[in-house]
Amino acid sequence: MAWNHLREVGSINFFQTLAPRPSVEASMQYGAWLIFQAALYRWLPSVISTGQLTPAGNLLKYRTNGLLAWFVTHALFFGLSAFGTLDPAFLARNWEGLLVAANIWGFLLTGIAYIKAHVSPTHEQDRKFSGSFFYDMYMGIELNPRFGKSFDFKLFTNGRPGIIAWTLIDFSFVAYQYQLHGYITNSILIATILHTIYVVDFFINEDWYLRTIDICHDHFGFYLAWGSTVWLPAIYSLQTQYLARNPVLLSNMNATTLLITGVSGYTLFRSVNHQKDLVRRTKGACKLWGRPAQVLNVKYRTKDGREHSSILLCSGWWGMARHINYLGDLMLSYSMCAACGFEDLLPWTYAIFMTILLIHRCWRDEERCSKKYGKGWEDYCKRVRWVIFPGVY
Ligand code: NDP
Repeated sequence: MAWNHLREVGSINFFQTLAPRPSVEASMQYGAWLIFQAALYRWLPSVISTGQLTPAGNLLKYRTNGLLAWFVTHALFFGLSAFGTLDPAFLARNWEGLLVAANIWGFLLTGIAYIKAHVSPTHEQDRKFSGSFFYDMYMGIELNPRFGKSFDFKLFTNGRPGIIAWTLIDFSFVAYQYQLHGYITNSILIATILHTIYVVDFFINEDWYLRTIDICHDHFGFYLAWGSTVWLPAIYSLQTQYLARNPVLLSNMNATTLLITGVSGYTLFRSVNHQKDLVRRTKGACKLWGRPAQVLNVKYRTKDGREHSSILLCSGWWGMARHINYLGDLMLSYSMCAACGFEDLLPWTYAIFMTILLIHRCWRDEERCSKKYGKGWEDYCKRVRWVIFPGVY
């Protein structure tokens, strides 16, 4: 449809009439949102969590108060809406200008991260230069850029303007559906419930997130800066954006099936991630499913040449496939998108993206782990054959 329209009116006309337009008001609102989230991150009471040893041998502390920030933000949203001070559909109605503002910030932040990495790095030895300007911009140079000692760019950007915004956008589009059509469908509620479970879970387990690829291995460039500020809130919430304008009423049977599949996917995702986290925290001295955890002891070297030991779990879920946590995530993603029906491809973007992202992640991670652990990783792969789906891949 869009393609036909583009051919009819020509590309300049097409973009002039359809491209999102900036708005000073929305840009200021977006700026206020960033400052508000930064203030919550900095000043709300917080547990101090410890990350994982970096390749240069740094062990960083993090403020993990995301759950409280999520509650304060949403309580304000609902409170102000209930008192009539805020139109709950505000984000939906101002979506265009907010999206442009988020993009501007995403690009600016990428530039700031690039310059900071050169002129004022937080941990010099944890920088990675590829030799290519574009690659460094895209994948980042610094591993853990910070303002001062504790304002961590990565944890803040991914969690606060990114993940907190996700459910806020959902709730706003639910309100928008109501304002447009006078009712709220079970499909938009299912998508919102599944998103909320995922988001609240993320913040309950924010400490766990410190031991995932995003924090431990990915450097901070466009991929994480723009990805967390724009791609994450805009694309992950596409289902509710779509359903607000194109309501879908699911039969009770379909609604129940989607909810059960989604919650099962989430349960698998959480249980798998919990097992790895538990084993790493207890250094293997724990039980999984009533039996002592089985681990492989492996060795690796940090950049300073020192040798370290680590463990790879090969029992419980992790004895079935090397990335079985991704399977749970995929079940959840497909359930969320299926709530939108099969009329359009657009709301399926999230599930398609997650499939590509997670398969690509497997390849990336396997290559990195193989370099890091050498023979230890080979032994692990022989012991745990499957990648994501036992018996299939
Ligand atoms: P993992 O949490 O699985 O972390 C992978 C790392 O864990 C490896 O690099 C390795 O790091 C270590 N590891 C690998 N195998 C083992 C093992 N057998 N025992 C112990 N440690 C092991 O991956 P991700 O960070 O990609 O994902 C975490 C979760 O987040 C997943 O459930 C995923 O689905 C989800 N996710 C969601 C996204 C979204 O946008 N919704 C995006 C990306 C992920 P080390 O060097 O420490 O050994």
